[in-house]
Amino acid sequence: MAPSETGPARRGVLLILSSPSGAGKSTLTRALLDTDKEITLSISATTRPKRASEADGVHYHFIRQREFEAMRDEGELLEWAEVHGNFYGTPRAPVEAALTVGRDVLFDIDWQGAQQICGAMRSDVATVFVLPPSAKELRSRLERRAEDSAEVIDRRLRNAAVEINHVGEYDYVVVNADFEDCLNRVRAILQAERIRRVRQPRLMADAAQLVKDLDAV
Ligand code: GDP
Ligand code: ADP
Ligand code: 5GP
Repeated sequence: MAPSETGPARRGVLLILSSPSGAGKSTLTRALLDTDKEITLSISATTRPKRASEADGVHYHFIRQREFEAMRDEGELLEWAEVHGNFYGTPRAPVEAALTVGRDVLFDIDWQGAQQICGAMRSDVATVFVLPPSAKELRSRLERRAEDSAEVIDRRLRNAAVEINHVGEYDYVVVNADFEDCLNRVRAILQAERIRRVRQPRLMADAAQLVKDLDAV
């Protein structure tokens, strides 16, 4: 049997969202996961302290630096980076498992992580950069979220320019001004990426069969 007949109907999309802190990645991520059952979140490991609104194993795997270094050194991370003074990394095994069965994976990771995953598996990846409508609005969202200290907010705002300077490396750019509008754009990107020819080997085999069948009609 041809491999296309035994493997999943399509290859999963690795959908990467990046943005400066506060632009709305986490909110978009949650909304997408709530309404789309074919995509799963890549739960990063991080050394950052847990926020009051977060749960271990749901938003992140909150671990100590020593544990993080052990995972990294054992090759258990697909990528890792230092962001805002903490370590963040993507566990490798769940991503590989999802691809094997044709499920999509959503990543909320920074530009360094996006670069590394693109370097390793470009043909499976689609990258989206989320811009805030303005600098002022970015600050007020970080303040409204009320999860970080003033010092942490200042650090994140200082890092925002660095993140935005990488926007040119992304496949898609969306502005998160009106939330529903932005979410619909991200959904449209995901739908289109799912039907890229390279992700549908079984349909390609069907097309070849159609050509043969046409001989007989
Ligand atoms: P947020 O910016 O308010 O969502 O704050 P977080 O503390 O959740 O994330 C901090 C930064 O780390 C963001 O730029 C994320 O995109 C990035 N990040 C989160 N998880 C990962 C990961 O697994 N790998 C990499 N490279 N970056 C990550
Ligand atoms: P990130 O994960 O990029 O740091 P969040 O998703 O935590 O950002 O969003 C930051 C804050 O902005 C949150 O309080 C969130 O509710 C709010 N927010 C997100 N999108 C919008 C939007 N389109 N309009 C107004 N507020 C928003
Ligand atoms: P936060 O601390 O606000 O949850 O995340 C800060 C930044 O770290 C965000 O930009 C987020 O996308 C990024 N981030 C979270 N997890 C990872 C990860 O596993 N790898 C990388 N490279 N960045 C991450």
